[in-house]
Amino acid sequence: MNDTQTAAAPTPQQGWLDRYDSSLMGVFGAPQRALVRGNGCYVEDADGKQYLDLLGGIAVNSLGHAHPALVAAVSEQLATLGHVSNFFTSPAQVQLAERLLALAGAPQGSKVFFANSGAEANEAAFKLARRNSDPAAGRTRILALEGAFHGRTMGALALTAKPAYREPFEPLPAGVEHLPFGDVDALLAAVDETVAAVFLEPIQGEAGVRPLPEGYLRAAREATRAAGALLVIDEVQTGIGRTGKWFASEGVLPDAMTLAKGLGGGLPVGALITFGETTSGLLAAGMHGTTFGGNPVAAAAALATLSVLDSGEVLASVRAIGSYLRREIAAMDAVAEVRGEGLLIGIDLTDDVAPAAVAAALDAGFIINSTGPATLRLAPPLILTAEQAGRFLQALPGILASARAAASAPADAGRAAPSSAPGTITEGKQ
Ligand SMILES: *Cc1c(COP(=O)(O)O)cnc(C)c1O
Repeated sequence: MNDTQTAAAPTPQQGWLDRYDSSLMGVFGAPQRALVRGNGCYVEDADGKQYLDLLGGIAVNSLGHAHPALVAAVSEQLATLGHVSNFFTSPAQVQLAERLLALAGAPQGSKVFFANSGAEANEAAFKLARRNSDPAAGRTRILALEGAFHGRTMGALALTAKPAYREPFEPLPAGVEHLPFGDVDALLAAVDETVAAVFLEPIQGEAGVRPLPEGYLRAAREATRAAGALLVIDEVQTGIGRTGKWFASEGVLPDAMTLAKGLGGGLPVGALITFGETTSGLLAAGMHGTTFGGNPVAAAAALATLSVLDSGEVLASVRAIGSYLRREIAAMDAVAEVRGEGLLIGIDLTDDVAPAAVAAALDAGFIINSTGPATLRLAPPLILTAEQAGRFLQALPGILASARAAASAPADAGRAAPSSAPGTITEGKQ
């Protein structure tokens, strides 16, 4: 870190990072910073440095940090009724289910199951897929795509493609096959009466923001319908306004859809929506459950998030600012390709310097993320302003130059020098 010149007492932040290291499980690696507060699109670390948050807790903080509508809804609900078991219901839970069914254009008989995360929503969808299986008739296969990320619990992990995530935990639930990404012919060849379900992300987020090719979802819809297989669309990262639409798969009605990340605006909420009466009947009384799922506070958070997104032209702004960012970034020197929709943006760099760029961005006061050695991802709050986007665009060439310098420097030279990256935010907090 920055302690080469002096052996002075650690900063408050270093203190937290050291204590993290001795008390938290190592699965995430070392945290980049210890954050203590946030406001709008900015967060502040324990040493008082401000950052423009262009990752939004990985596509979670749709309304940014400490949004007054979210704070009010959650506080009020918690002060009124915080948790009931699923032996009971609450107005917030029912209202949220109705609202999601309406937004998804779900037909009569469609239903919602609430979970607490994306993995849990997909775990429920995996059980739904098993319920559509019929081993006696040879219907046992579940299809997903290469590059897919559906979560880390055992069922969701079976759907996830990455060998490094899977291999330490094998054997995983059986029956899942991964097809080549975006290859319609491979899909059509694979989908027949032996398939129980097909799981798809409209845009693969963890794989570096890779959209399915035009027409793929529609082809999957037709093939699964003809074969009696369920089409399950994982909108955990792409849903709830992230792409400037309520759902990235808009226009294609699936049999099931999973949601989480942005749905609660920062509180843990996941959902499985089942479309139509037949599919919704596959998980009957006693077949699935959760203690926390659909709890009134989480539901109130989601309702508040939806109502803010539904007002004030937020989704139109997501589309406009997303195009602005993609257009400007695509014109930059060290950038090979820019992908995505709305405020889910993947940036392929010409060199393998994405992790160094993340570090240089932090030094310059911006939180971004890398999904691979040469790929950056942006998933900022949906309330990001054009002015804030402009600040990042101004700083990005310097960040990328610092990253290249750091990556070509001797290994022990550490992170990119803060002085070489312009655009440090000092006036950030609003
Ligand atoms: C993040 C993500 C998940 C897993 O969600 P968790 O809340 O981390 O369990 C599943 N599917 C997709 C597409 C995701 O991006």
